[in-house]
Amino acid sequence: CGIVGYIGKRDVAPLLLEGLQRLEYRGYDSAGIAVNSPKAPGLKTVKAKGRVRDLEARVPARFKGTTGIAHTRWATHGAPSDENAHPHLSQDEKVAVVHNGIIDNASELRAKLVVDGVEFLSETDTEVLTHLIARCQADTLEEKVREALRHIEGTYGIAVLHADFHDRIVVARNGSPVVLGIGEKEMFVASDVAALVSHTRQVVTLDDGEMATIKADDYRTYTTEGSRTTASPTTVEWEA
Ligand code: GLU
Repeated sequence: CGIVGYIGKRDVAPLLLEGLQRLEYRGYDSAGIAVNSPKAPGLKTVKAKGRVRDLEARVPARFKGTTGIAHTRWATHGAPSDENAHPHLSQDEKVAVVHNGIIDNASELRAKLVVDGVEFLSETDTEVLTHLIARCQADTLEEKVREALRHIEGTYGIAVLHADFHDRIVVARNGSPVVLGIGEKEMFVASDVAALVSHTRQVVTLDDGEMATIKADDYRTYTTEGSRTTASPTTVEWEA
């Protein structure tokens, strides 16, 4: 349902929670956040069925990092629960994914992954994407995501964190909106400009079939086949 992400210098958990609150008007049944800290070997997540407020109450004081992604879920595959809330983590806790949309061939992909020994922690369609990215042998995060998306039939707006690639968030869009918010030495991503207009009015809207890599001081967009696209920011008008 709703996606928010941030990479920069600020403490990320409060920023993500604020962004999720701005998306509450869209409705949701659960919420969660993941942070990537260069000091920690894996990613950390906190999730909760219910309100963003319930999630906030669970965030530990030491949940520190300056890169993270967050989600409000509107369940399509699997009941609303703590486990089914996004972000979904890979078994080695290196990959975290938030996803809006529906993966139509999730049950086939899931069955194949189970045969390969993957243990699923949720009933969601989204979790297949997490494992596909984590198992991909490609060298870059962009290629891992691209390779995983090749197997996916359905709609998605996604944001991906990887513990081995601290300097970036990779996002992709097919049928579910993704916008980048361009700040001063910080970048935002969201499914809806409402989540980022309090920080920046400079926005890049991805097209279907487009991906982006955001870093604190840079962003680039390209197609899911890997060829560069040009995306200049536009200024959004917004009544506060
Ligand atoms: N299909 C995913 C799920 O059920 C994402 C739903 C959403 O867009 O929030 O978890």
